[in-house]
Amino acid sequence: MTRYASDPICSRGRHYPEADAPTRNAYQRDRDRIVHSTAFRRLVYKTQVFLNHEGDLFRTRLTHSLEVAQLGRSIARTLGLNEDLVEAIALAHDLGHTPFGHAGQDALNSCMAAYGGFEHNLQSLRVVDCLEERYPTFDGLNLCFETREGILKHCSLRNAEVLERDEPAYPDGQGGVARRFITRTQPSLEAQLCNLADEIAYNAHDIDDGVRSGLITLEQLQAVPLFDAFRQQALAAHARLAEPNQSRRLLYESIRLMLSAQVYDVIASTQAALDVANLRCADDARTMPPLVLFGSEMREGSRVLKTFLMQKLYRHPQVVDTMAQAKQVVRELFDVYSVRPHEMQAGYATQAASLKSSGLPRDACMRVVADYIAGMTDRFAAREHERLIGGRLLKQP
Ligand code: MG
Repeated sequence: MTRYASDPICSRGRHYPEADAPTRNAYQRDRDRIVHSTAFRRLVYKTQVFLNHEGDLFRTRLTHSLEVAQLGRSIARTLGLNEDLVEAIALAHDLGHTPFGHAGQDALNSCMAAYGGFEHNLQSLRVVDCLEERYPTFDGLNLCFETREGILKHCSLRNAEVLERDEPAYPDGQGGVARRFITRTQPSLEAQLCNLADEIAYNAHDIDDGVRSGLITLEQLQAVPLFDAFRQQALAAHARLAEPNQSRRLLYESIRLMLSAQVYDVIASTQAALDVANLRCADDARTMPPLVLFGSEMREGSRVLKTFLMQKLYRHPQVVDTMAQAKQVVRELFDVYSVRPHEMQAGYATQAASLKSSGLPRDACMRVVADYIAGMTDRFAAREHERLIGGRLLKQP
């Protein structure tokens, strides 16, 4: 490891002090806690782009998170960053996603507009800080500061101020994980890396899933310079990939080359930035501009690819139509639970009932409803909707 890698020995620690584990460092322990959490197991039944039941081979939040961890670790190893921390952050980064991907998040956010809103990054933090109930003496997973910092990828200034006000102080008095959104500083290099690994992963796998679903085609992708450069490279190296029955292999080979090129680009650009920055320790990265980055050409290539995916895949009429139904499911579930909280599972129902009778503002009770819905898998949400509303949206096989 390098002098600017996060070192578990120097961690800012956990909110609830615990003895060190005999065989694992603090970040390895965080990773293990995440893998064993309930929220992590639910990721297998949560939408990435395609609804969970639309096909067995599409990415889910779980396989997406594993791909982010794989890419992140391999870049971290080459750059001499802390692989364990990268892995922990990557595996946890999507824990707060609602069912039905961004459609679910948007619907829940508008339902919660009068009660503080809903944001999946904040929810990921809420899952690991409060919602997991596995330990005898505290709520949440009691993760290290550095892991929590990486999980809170984005945060509005308003939310940051609320989080900062409510978070217990760390022993060093340096503020909590939302402080950096107020001071406009950066997170650790490992957290910065997870952000980029996330982007590399979804750009690549959404091309793959998009083509396999038939919603976008290899021909359309030829208009995307970043992809097309690698398609041509693949064809130049393997003439047989031009045969009509080889299109699947051509797709995979092009994506593979593109992925590798993006990884090598991040490594080279980041190493160059690190050489110039000449950091003395991990903390130095927090007060610098972002140091884990694409080179300018790859940044532009990735931007064009993202725009293509937005226009041709995420806004494809078929996807939009399914997502409209998904939003309806979330909205109608919210409406039912907010007036009939006893329809939720026991723990949530009891919590909502006691908040309601305590005379506290309605916000707290609605937050329980949002937590309950956010934790649902796609299929559980669809089944609950059918039970409570009757009609059957989002037909499953
Ligand atoms: Mg992600």
